[in-house]
Amino acid sequence: MVDTLIVGAGTAGCLLAARLSERPEHRVHVVEAGPVWSDVRAVPSEVLRADVMPIGPESPWVWRYPARLADAGPDSGSRDVDAELVRGRLLGGSGAVNGGYFVRAIAEDFAAWSAAVGGSALWSPDAVFPVYRQIERDLDFGAAPGHGDDGPVPVRRTSNPAPAGLEFAAAAAAAGFPEIPDLNAPPESLPRIGFGPVPCNVEDGVLVGTGPACLLPVAGRPNLTVAGAITVTRIRFRGDRAVGVEFVARGRAGVLDADRVVVCAGAVESAALLLRSGIGDPTRLRELGIPVVAPAPVGEWFTDHPEIGVEYRRAGIARGTGVPVEYVLHHDAIEIRPYAFGFGADPDTHRVGVALMRPRAAGRLRLVSADPTAPPRLEHRYLSSASDRDALRAGVALAADLIAAIPGARLSPGWRGRVEDRALYADLATSQHLSGTCRMGAADDERAVVDERCRVRGVRGVSVVDLSVAPVALSRGPQATVMMLAQQVANHFAA
Ligand SMILES: Cc1cc2nc3c(=O)[nH]c(=O)nc-3n(C[C@H](O)[C@H](O)[C@H](O)COP(=O)(O)OP(=O)(O)OC[C@H]3O[C@@H](n4cnc5c(N)ncnc54)[C@H](O)[C@@H]3O)c2cc1C
Repeated sequence: MVDTLIVGAGTAGCLLAARLSERPEHRVHVVEAGPVWSDVRAVPSEVLRADVMPIGPESPWVWRYPARLADAGPDSGSRDVDAELVRGRLLGGSGAVNGGYFVRAIAEDFAAWSAAVGGSALWSPDAVFPVYRQIERDLDFGAAPGHGDDGPVPVRRTSNPAPAGLEFAAAAAAAGFPEIPDLNAPPESLPRIGFGPVPCNVEDGVLVGTGPACLLPVAGRPNLTVAGAITVTRIRFRGDRAVGVEFVARGRAGVLDADRVVVCAGAVESAALLLRSGIGDPTRLRELGIPVVAPAPVGEWFTDHPEIGVEYRRAGIARGTGVPVEYVLHHDAIEIRPYAFGFGADPDTHRVGVALMRPRAAGRLRLVSADPTAPPRLEHRYLSSASDRDALRAGVALAADLIAAIPGARLSPGWRGRVEDRALYADLATSQHLSGTCRMGAADDERAVVDERCRVRGVRGVSVVDLSVAPVALSRGPQATVMMLAQQVANHFAA
């Protein structure tokens, strides 16, 4: 029997496994649905390359989910918007297939996070920024105040940005926006408005997620085992006490016993696993024939960053050879991302993404079946809030003005001036940052699933440690914060 069974060797799971197995007497077993490798030299090159996101239609490394991003709005030109979500299904999880953007969330996010957990001292700005420092080895600012230079994860800003990003940055500077050289600067010296190069967990062209950075270096520990191609289908309980899991591996079912189960399966699968295990809305669970273990609002609230893609023509500039997003512009709750390369076949078509980072709209995840192979139903409800639409329209108008100022750039006329709602629907996408399906919250918070230490309320021996637990929308991309979260839970695991 193991002490801690970790479900999912993803961004959070790899870091947590490495930290919890530091104590030789604590036996940790990690199970991952996708492939795992025991040496970084065995990891396929397309997984390691920072300039490739291996998520295309043929990719064997991802989960895929249909999602309804938005229902048609009041404007007659708008329509339902459906999309496919992807999530990493391999050692390192989504962090092994992502864009390498590694930016800390901001102090206001943690003031709200801490308040959501009854003023918890674990998640206040003062508590979390030192924890980001523990993770990073910042190759540009490691010696500067508020930074780390000996953590496992390398962080670097591009020294050779692609022309598309450079031209956009020049337009932002000409429009009066200040440059922010360090988007991970400590909160007291970080401007909220401005543009700057994106810190990335990339070293020598290699994307360094928590698989290579945290888990593989310690994979030889005798008290740590990691097994791939094992999909956990249900948590087993005796009364309200977790005693292990059921799984399927290469078509065969089995069980694993554990003293404690820590679910690190990501915001979609962690919620789906809790629901299949009987933690959720009792009425809906019974409708699906799932015995109820504990009532909880699993999946009833999630958030994600909607993104509107604004395309323009600009001939004669080279495609980027680094990460997809090398510069960003922050303006209020909007993040503008000039992509370093286009997404289509035409090399002269470029895209700028306009993302709303603190949307009001809340999405919903529900099981449609107790069958573990049936994907859950995801409804983002993007654009359902008038203030979200207003903020996105303003962000798109700003992006369009900046693009129009780039010499040689040709924007379609519909993007200038007043942006219609129907344009938002036509070019709506998602940033793939779904979070909050198993929210952290105070004991009297009816939306909360886990407590401040990520323990699932109403049962014993189960925690969720991944992006599922974020109780607020984060003002920046989530990857760095997922690592900080796992590190902070590990710091306080035995306490
Ligand atoms: C394509 C893409 C690009 C992105 N780009 C960026 C970016 O550049 N910057 C940024 O900040 N964020 C980015 N994100 C978001 C970020 O990568 C994720 O939010 C973050 O990695 C989530 O970490 P996690 O630990 O919550 O889950 P994950 O890293 O997804 O880990 C979950 C793991 O659990 C495994 N698992 C799931 N269910 C089971 C089961 N039942 N049994 C066993 N194992 C299971 C999965 O296979 C996976 O390995 C991106 C996301 C995607 C999908």
